[in-house]
Amino acid sequence: MAVRSRPTTRGWGCGVAPAFQLRSMPLDLSPLPLIDAHCHSLLRDFTQLDEAAFLGHFSESSDPQQLLHHVPHSLFWHGAQRLLSSLHGCAPELPALLEARRKTAPAELITRLLSGQGYQAMLVDRAYPPHGLPLEELQALLPARLYEVVRIEAVAEELLPQTSGLRALQRAFGEALRRAVEAGAVAFKSIIAYRAGLRLDAPSESKARAAYKREIEAAEQSGRVRLQEAPLLAILLRQALEIAAEHGLPFQFHTGFGDQDLDLRLADPLHLRPILRDPGLAGVPIVLLHAGYPYVRQAGYLASTYPQVYVDWSLAAPFLHLGLEPLLASLLELAPFSKLLFGSDAHGIPEHWLLAARWSKRALGQVLNRYVERGWLSTSQASDAAHLMLWKNAAILFRLPSSPSARG
Ligand SMILES: [Zn+2]
Repeated sequence: MAVRSRPTTRGWGCGVAPAFQLRSMPLDLSPLPLIDAHCHSLLRDFTQLDEAAFLGHFSESSDPQQLLHHVPHSLFWHGAQRLLSSLHGCAPELPALLEARRKTAPAELITRLLSGQGYQAMLVDRAYPPHGLPLEELQALLPARLYEVVRIEAVAEELLPQTSGLRALQRAFGEALRRAVEAGAVAFKSIIAYRAGLRLDAPSESKARAAYKREIEAAEQSGRVRLQEAPLLAILLRQALEIAAEHGLPFQFHTGFGDQDLDLRLADPLHLRPILRDPGLAGVPIVLLHAGYPYVRQAGYLASTYPQVYVDWSLAAPFLHLGLEPLLASLLELAPFSKLLFGSDAHGIPEHWLLAARWSKRALGQVLNRYVERGWLSTSQASDAAHLMLWKNAAILFRLPSSPSARG
């Protein structure tokens, strides 16, 4: 059993944290460090997007009608447009904003957006967007240290065409996941919610074998591999969870909202109960991504009940904008500070990182401030809670190296 030691949080945030002074009300969290527990890579041409492509990053819809005619009337878009335009010094209109982005070099755009936001580290699922920048190129652009999160379905999809049966796929899949851990992956992630939903039957080898054959046939007919057979996905998920248990590696689950592929009815994290109650998997920290939105209270309940369950609020930040305040308040009704993680789910464009940071820090400050005003927390307790949720919990949970020399 290769259990890695958990680092302390010493060394993190140095250079940023000392600048944080406790102030009189309201609590100002803007100078605090951040660790992004869940994000993705950037599009190669992220500065050159047209209207539909750019607006597509402000909605979970891919329908052009929705993007062009309705997204511009959303509060998310209005808040984002106002903030981004002020940053570029352009008119708060889509054509002016696109033009300002287009004439800015990629590295300069990232500096403009991210400097001063406090990002120290980011956990990246590079399986999305499909033709996104490889991790090394992304690292060269970003001011934070990047760590890889391995999307297990992407690993299986790459291996499927090279295998001759379920057993061969499982062998190659296990080897690939173990190699990824050795190479420094800090977590696994599953998007089974998108493909089969979270309400899964117990894995069955005979059903998985039949499903494997159907997947091979479907791949031969369509010329592409897109795993969606629940029995096959369930048996691979179980295998990945067991490997995570061997290494004490955290496991992220997509829960709650997502794009049009998703049957939201099946993305309620309460469906994970059999996994959460399995004694063989009790050592696997489970991270419920996206605050399970709209199943936010369900996610908070699970984090308050199961010692291994954590909740990140990526995608909710930045998509819920001012709605982040009631979302964080709902999570905190039950979930301890030690169980919540900041995340952005930034994908394709770097603007998500700015919006998630700004709006999360503001919302969290406002929520904590209410507890200070009512005498529930001292100012220093509220500050400690903010540090936990914005970076410390992630540094400990994902065992991120804390010495400055470990950063690249
Ligand atoms: Zn994501």
